[in-house]
Amino acid sequence: MYKTIIFDFDGTLVDSKYIFVDVYNQIAKRYGYLSLDSENIHELRKLSIRERFKLMQIPLYHVPLISFLFLRKYGKAMHQLTCFEGIQTMLNQLSTQGLTLAIISSNSKSNIHTFLKSNQITAIQHIYTSRNLFGKHKVMHRLMKDLRITPQEILYVGDELRDINSCRIAQIPIAWVSWGYDPLELIDQNPPDYYIHSPHELLTLLTNSPS
Ligand SMILES: [Mg+2]
Repeated sequence: MYKTIIFDFDGTLVDSKYIFVDVYNQIAKRYGYLSLDSENIHELRKLSIRERFKLMQIPLYHVPLISFLFLRKYGKAMHQLTCFEGIQTMLNQLSTQGLTLAIISSNSKSNIHTFLKSNQITAIQHIYTSRNLFGKHKVMHRLMKDLRITPQEILYVGDELRDINSCRIAQIPIAWVSWGYDPLELIDQNPPDYYIHSPHELLTLLTNSPS
């Protein structure tokens, strides 16, 4: 059924929450936004991205600048990143099954390349990135065109509401993973096709789906 599996990077393959908070707080301090702490993170997770920017007092026109600074600082902290437990085994297994594996991310290509190389992950064949936080569906269309595949042949795996929203626009089925950034109560605004709670569960889904 599914021939190509597209993974989101941050919060789906890699556990980057701590780097995210640390890098964000460095930028917030410099530009006068609110800082993240253990209390407001809990509240923020329930909000949409646009509501989060508003609460943190970040003007939307600052977003491109923040993204630029964020990715640069994030790149310098890459060595602290690791995959969630079970991810590497799962990727190898899916690749052995003959599935094409890709990444679509709002992170930078060079950050992702560096990470995959230093963790000896060779199962990923294609990396696509989107500079627009809300524009992943555009990159999905580009990938489908390049690889000459239809939405029905793809399963997207991601952790955020915006992943689900983009998949709905591109009409690509989506498996939401519960170990990432967005909590269940937020993603229930636009329910995914599958709810996945461990890499092993994803493996089971993709191994048992009829071909
Ligand atoms: Mg993510």
